[in-house]
Amino acid sequence: MAETSETLLLRAPVSGVLLPLAAVPDPVFADGMFGDGLAIDPLSDTLVAPCDGTIVHLAATGHALTLQAPCGAQVLLHVGIDTVSLRGEGFAPCVAQGAAVRQGDALIRFDVDRVAQQASSLVTVMAIANGDAFTVAGRTGAAQADAGRTVLLQVRAAGAAAPAQEDHASAAEQRRTVTLACPGGLHARPAARAREAARGLDAAVALHYGGRQASLASLVSLLGLAADEGAAVELVATGRDAGAALDAVAYELQRAGVGEEEPVPTVAAPIAQPGPGAGLPADGIPGVAAAPGIAIGTLHWWRETTPEPAEAGQGIAAEREALRAALAAIDAQLAHESEAATARRAGAEAGIFAMHRALLEDPALQAAAETMIAAGKSAGFAWREATRAEAAMLSAMADRRMAERAADLLDLGKRVLRALAPAGSAPVQLPAPAADGDVIVLAAGEFTPSDLTGLDRTRVAALVMARGGPTSHAAIIARQLGIPCLVALGSALERLQDGTPVIADGDSARLHACPDAHLLAAAASAVRLRAQQREADLRAAHAAASTRDGVPIEVAANIGSLDDARNAVAHGADAVGLLRTELLFLHGDAAPAAADHTASCQAIADALQGRSAIVRTLDIGADKDAAWLHLPAEDNPALGLRGVRLAQVRPQLLDDQLRGLLAVRASGPLRILLPMVSEVGELLAWRERIRALAAEAGTDPEIEVGVMIEVPSAALLADQLAEHADFFSIGTNDLTQYTLAIDRCQPELAARMDGLHPAVLRMIAATTEGAARHGRWVGVCGALAGDPLAVPVLVGLGVTELSVDAGLVPGVKARVRALSHADCRQRAGELLRLPSAAAVRDACRRYWPA
Ligand code: PEP
Ligand code: MG
Repeated sequence: MAETSETLLLRAPVSGVLLPLAAVPDPVFADGMFGDGLAIDPLSDTLVAPCDGTIVHLAATGHALTLQAPCGAQVLLHVGIDTVSLRGEGFAPCVAQGAAVRQGDALIRFDVDRVAQQASSLVTVMAIANGDAFTVAGRTGAAQADAGRTVLLQVRAAGAAAPAQEDHASAAEQRRTVTLACPGGLHARPAARAREAARGLDAAVALHYGGRQASLASLVSLLGLAADEGAAVELVATGRDAGAALDAVAYELQRAGVGEEEPVPTVAAPIAQPGPGAGLPADGIPGVAAAPGIAIGTLHWWRETTPEPAEAGQGIAAEREALRAALAAIDAQLAHESEAATARRAGAEAGIFAMHRALLEDPALQAAAETMIAAGKSAGFAWREATRAEAAMLSAMADRRMAERAADLLDLGKRVLRALAPAGSAPVQLPAPAADGDVIVLAAGEFTPSDLTGLDRTRVAALVMARGGPTSHAAIIARQLGIPCLVALGSALERLQDGTPVIADGDSARLHACPDAHLLAAAASAVRLRAQQREADLRAAHAAASTRDGVPIEVAANIGSLDDARNAVAHGADAVGLLRTELLFLHGDAAPAAADHTASCQAIADALQGRSAIVRTLDIGADKDAAWLHLPAEDNPALGLRGVRLAQVRPQLLDDQLRGLLAVRASGPLRILLPMVSEVGELLAWRERIRALAAEAGTDPEIEVGVMIEVPSAALLADQLAEHADFFSIGTNDLTQYTLAIDRCQPELAARMDGLHPAVLRMIAATTEGAARHGRWVGVCGALAGDPLAVPVLVGLGVTELSVDAGLVPGVKARVRALSHADCRQRAGELLRLPSAAAVRDACRRYWPA
C-alpha cells in the first residue's frame, strides 16, 4: 500500500495481533457502527498516532480519541472494550484535545495489566469515524503489527457518496427535543447507535445542545457536544424522511439500550432501600426465559477470573511441557464433563464438551502455539494468542456456526489459561452467605460453558444474563441443571449491583430487582407452594396412580445406573420403564462381557425390591459413542449403525448382553426392550435369537420382549409389530427427531423439537391403535412422558405406562390422579387435527391447566 495525493496511510497505533473488526467482542464495533477499520490485540502499552493530524476529540476518561488527518479523514482510536467504565483509571493521555501531532507521536499510555484485569477486553479499535466522506481502500494482510511502523489501512475520500446537503436544506425542517437516557450521556456507543438508526433514510439530522451543534454523520462532533445523561438535546432534521429519522434517533437516545457502555458493578454494596430499583421497570426487567422456575436471592456478578499470562517464557522446553500438561488436564476435565452429561442423558450438553475436546486437538491451533513458544513466549501467552487469532478468523466468516465456534475457542482459551495459572483453575468465587439459606442469583453478560463448570448448586439458585439466547450453550446447561435461567435482560441487568435482592422468575421471564414486600411475599409463597406441592406429591408417590375415573396408569422411572435405581425407589416409581444399559458401559475401555451385564443388571434388579424392570439392549451409536467400539465414522450416525442395527457388524456384542441378562435372577419381572427396530422381520429375528440363547442357558424362553417405537416406520407398522411383541415403549426423543427431521442435539432447532407436534401425536396414536388390535400395552419412555402438558394427551391417546426421570415420578402421579380418562380421550383426538406443536400446547394449557 502506498500513499498518493488521494490516499492516506494509517500505521499501527499499537503493536499487537491484528483482528478483523468482526472479531471484536462488542457488537457496536463488530457491526461497524463506528465505521470501517480493524482491531489490534495490544502487545505494547502506548497508543501512537497512525498519521499526522489534530486531536479533535479526547475522551475525558482518556481511553479513546479521534485524530483528524489534514485530508479531513477522522480516525477513531479506542483502547479496550467497556473501558469507559474504568473512569480514566489506567489511562494517561500524552496529548490534549486540539493538539497537532505527527505520525508516531505517543497519544495515550495505558496500564496493560490493570486495564486487562478490569475491562472485558484489551482489544483496541482503529476505525474511520466519518465513513460517509472517507472509505477504507486497502488493508494489510499481516497477522501482527509494529506500532508506528506497519501500514494497516489505506483511506480514500468517498467522493460521490457524500450526502447532497442542498436537497435536505431545501426540504421542510422538523425539530424535536429529547432527554438523553443513555447512562453516561452521549458517549461513543449511543452516538454510534443513533447514527446507525438513521442510516439509509433520506434525511440530514443535527443535534443542538449547549449552544453547540453537531451533525449526526460525525461521531466526533456528536461526542464534542459533551451532552450528559438527562440533557435536553434538540434534534433538527431535514429531508424527505425527516420524520422517520427523528423517530429513529429519538428512540435510540431515549432508551437505556442493550449492551450500554456503562460501569460494570464492582462493589459489593447491598441496597438498603427496598422498592423498585431506580429507573427499572416496576413490573420487572423483561428477558427471555431459558429455564423455568422461580428463585429469590441476592444478585452476584460472575467476574472473569482468567489469569493474565506473562508474555516471556521461561525456556522453550519448560513452556512446551507446561502447555502439554495443561492441554492434557483440560482434555481430561472435558472428557469427565462430557461423560457426566451423557450419563444424565444431557445429550446437547455432552455434545458441547465433546466439541471442545475436538477443538483442543486442532493441529493448526497447537502448531501456532508451538511457533510462539519456539519464539520465546510463555505457554499461556502462546495459547491465548493462538486461540484468539483462530477465533478471529472464524468470526470473520459469514457462516454463523463458525462464529459460534469462535466463542467456543475463546472459552477454551480461558480454560487453558486457568489450568496454567499457578493456583490451577479458578472456579466461580461466591461471597459468603449473609444468612442461613441465603442463595445467589448469579449474573453475567453471558456465561460460557466453562464458567458453569463446578458451579456450587447449593448456593446458586438461578442464572441471569444480559445477553445470550435460550439456545446458547449456557442456557442449555442451565436447563439440564434444572436451574431457573433468564437471558437477554439487557443493560437494565448491568445496572444492578452485587448484593441487590432479586426475584428471578423463569416462568414469566422477568427479573424483579429490590422487590417490594408484596412481590416478595407473592414469590415466596409461589416458591413455598411449589415446595409444599412437591412434598405432598412425594408423600403420595408410593401408591399407584389412576385417573379420576379409575383407569390405572403405571408411572415408572428411566434409569442408567444402580444409584438411579435406588433413587427411583425413593421417589415412588412403580417400576423401571427403561434401563439404558449402554450408559453403564459407554465409558469403559473394552466391550462388556456377559458376566459384566449379569453383575450390573443383577445389582439393579436387587435394588428394585420386586418391581418390574424393562431392560433395553445396548443403544450405542449416534450421540452415544463408545470409544472401545472403534467403529468407522459415519456421515449420518443417527441414521446409521445404532441400537439393534449394531449387531449387523458386531453380533457378539448383543449376544453377550442377552446371555448376561438371561442369567439374572430377579424377584420382579424382567423384560427386554429392543431399540431402533423398524420392521417386523427384525423383531422376529431377535425373538428367535433370544429363544435360542435362553434354551442354551436353560432359562425361560418366553421372557417378555418389547419394541421401542422411535422410528416412524415402526409406528406406522405398529399393528404388524404388535402381533409378535409383548409391549411397546415409545421413545419420543427419537420419534420426534425422526418424524420432524430435527437432530435432537441441534441447539438452534431445540425449540422446534417438540414431541407435542401433531405429526408426532399421530405416530403415537398409530402405535396405540396398532397395539390395541393385539391387546398389547403401550408405554412412553421419552422425555415427553414427564412433560406435565403432555401427560393428559398421552393418557388420552391410550398410553398406560409413563416412564420418566425419577425426580418427576411424584409430580406425574399427581397429574394423572387429577385427570378424567374419558375427557383426555375425547380431547386428545381433537388435538391431532391442530396444525402445530404451539397450537397443541395452547390447547393443552386451556384444557388441563397445570
Ligand atoms: C427416546 O428416544 O425417546 C428414548 C427414550 O431413548 P434415548 O433417549 O435413550 O435415545
Ligand atoms: Mg431413543
